[in-house]
Amino acid sequence: MRSSPNGYSRGTWGTGILSLLCVFCAQSDAAIALGKSFATEILHLPTMTDWAVGTTFIFVSYFAQYVITAGLFEATHPDGAWLNKDDKEKKRRWLQVTDELKLGVVAMACNVFATLVWMRYLDPMVWTYGYFDSHEYNIWWFLASIPLYLFCFDTWFYFTHRWMHESDYMWDKVHRIHHGFKHPTAFAQDAAHPFEALIQGPIGHYCVTLVFPVHPVALALFGFLASIFAIAAHDGRVYDLNSHYLHHDKGRGKNVNFNYSLFWPLWDWVFGTRWEDSKANVKKLAQPAPETWAPGKVY
Ligand SMILES: [Zn+2]
Ligand SMILES: [Zn+2]
Repeated sequence: MRSSPNGYSRGTWGTGILSLLCVFCAQSDAAIALGKSFATEILHLPTMTDWAVGTTFIFVSYFAQYVITAGLFEATHPDGAWLNKDDKEKKRRWLQVTDELKLGVVAMACNVFATLVWMRYLDPMVWTYGYFDSHEYNIWWFLASIPLYLFCFDTWFYFTHRWMHESDYMWDKVHRIHHGFKHPTAFAQDAAHPFEALIQGPIGHYCVTLVFPVHPVALALFGFLASIFAIAAHDGRVYDLNSHYLHHDKGRGKNVNFNYSLFWPLWDWVFGTRWEDSKANVKKLAQPAPETWAPGKVY
């Protein structure tokens, strides 16, 4: 474990990747077995009633996962809304969590709606649709789909995230809302403009299925785990493998920023946008810089 000057410790790369793989492997048999029935029963939505049930099911499970995971992170955070010793700071943290949660729920509702629209109307037009009804889905396919999926989604995330910083329109109208949280809590994962949540949520996940067939149940699992990963990245203590917390904390909004990838620093290394919390780097950013980028209320 490595500690940064502000006291946060982060898991190492190796531990993070190994733990993720263990979680995937432990789930894989169950996922494949469940997939046989889920793929035919839940993921095919011929009537509006099926569609409404599917929407409710996905929203409730996604919301429960978000609140439970982010709640656990916040409840164990020494500066968090529960454990903070400073009453004033504790109150401020609660207000921040409430604001993050409100934005998060709206974005989540939009994501779930878009997911169901994709499943009902767009999915049947995609070449991989129904692939697993006619092809064998075994453990090797599942295991191979993990790194392929992670690579594709992370690539999508890097370029769309960078685009949101470099386009005036996307920054002003969309991404600056998420950067209103300079010191985010775990609840900031989905605290974003609904359009941003769509691009970096369901659209990103479904774009992967245009490249290679991903079993629907594996895709649901990946979506869940990507969300857990993003929650941890905003808490900043563990599994923040590409220092996303520093993207908020030390980044200067639109023009001075770095660490755009979600899972790992691959593309940030390739394109020279990786930033570490070293003394030299901290000194560089210590120079005064205009912070007029921020929205009215900044946490
Ligand atoms: Zn950003
Ligand atoms: Zn963020």
